[in-house]
Amino acid sequence: MNRVLITGGSGFLGSHLCERLLDRGDEVICLDNFFTGRRRNIEHLLGHHRFELVRHDVVEPILLEVDRIFNLACPASPIHYQFNPVKTVKTSVMGAINMLGLAKRVRARILQASTSEVYGDPEQHPQTEGYWGHVNPIGPRSCYDEGKRVAETLFMDYHRQNQVDIRIARIFNTYGPRMHPNDGRVVSNFVVQALRSQDITIFGNGRQTRSFCHVDDLVDGLIRLMDQEEGDVQLPVNLGNPGEFSMLELAQKILRTSGSTSRIVHEPLPQDDPRQRRPDISRAQRLLGWEPQITLDQGLPSILEWFRKDLEIS
Ligand code: NAD
Ligand code: UDP
Repeated sequence: MNRVLITGGSGFLGSHLCERLLDRGDEVICLDNFFTGRRRNIEHLLGHHRFELVRHDVVEPILLEVDRIFNLACPASPIHYQFNPVKTVKTSVMGAINMLGLAKRVRARILQASTSEVYGDPEQHPQTEGYWGHVNPIGPRSCYDEGKRVAETLFMDYHRQNQVDIRIARIFNTYGPRMHPNDGRVVSNFVVQALRSQDITIFGNGRQTRSFCHVDDLVDGLIRLMDQEEGDVQLPVNLGNPGEFSMLELAQKILRTSGSTSRIVHEPLPQDDPRQRRPDISRAQRLLGWEPQITLDQGLPSILEWFRKDLEIS
């Protein structure tokens, strides 16, 4: 049994991680400032004897006795991370410093939830971990992209300088139950629009691509990476589903699966929107024996069903 701290534990990914770790017998401390996290995501865990909830902001230091830290605290959707960009940078950078300081002090292993956004608008396709990226340092996405890049730097430096036992997961677009309906990410937007018979808003011509991983696969990858003792485990590892789809294809799939009569409309493409994205997951396959099991076609019906209930649409 491990004593595990999950920052951002009441968010979309964090709440699934809390559940999975409790299921296997770990003790879980969920730490969150509830900026984008929801109490209802973890409400069902509140009575659990191995679960504890701490309201705290990672920008401030904290001392807790734990063996493992999953550092997930950070708004992940463009509308949320651009709402207060200075705070987003602080969360990524000061959050990383505070959590790495804690890991160093109590000798905990620590995993950073990094992102495919460290590759920016990539000129290498698919993206391998060796690619340094193509990121605008002064654009509207920079607070998130550069914040996450500095966090990776801090992780590597604490590892080299202080021998902190680190893991870095570069997470690609993930979807599943408990995504916030107003979170602005493409899967939740399209699904909610389809269920409410509203127009499906494709930004730009819809030919930009993304790769979508189901949350169950993603959480499995995070746990494997944290548990892995052997190999190049201190290097970043891409975690994502290599299936690649254009936003037009995604919209059509959601329309077909839901039977919705929504129309597709086009809206302006946001600045610096990456044109293509697909993970090369050979490192995760080799190091962790991990690869996603759930295709987008298999995952979409369950997310539609979940949103139907969440929004109480019959
Ligand atoms: P989310 O917004 O649902 O969850 C983030 C959680 O962090 C929320 O509960 C929020 O309240 C909390 N939080 C934010 N700022 C905080 C602060 N200063 N102190 C304490 N808590 C804070 O997002 P998510 O999709 O669950 O993402 C979790 C992590 O995974 C993030 O770090 C994100 O960057 C990373 N990630 C997610 C995806 C994805 O597709 N979901 C892709 C790449 C990376
Ligand atoms: N997108 C879209 N319509 C929406 C929301 C997003 O066409 O209502 C596009 C967005 O421009 C991007 C892609 O979908 O090209 C993925 O956007 P998301 O915000 O989910 O993730 P990210 O851009 O951070 O990968």
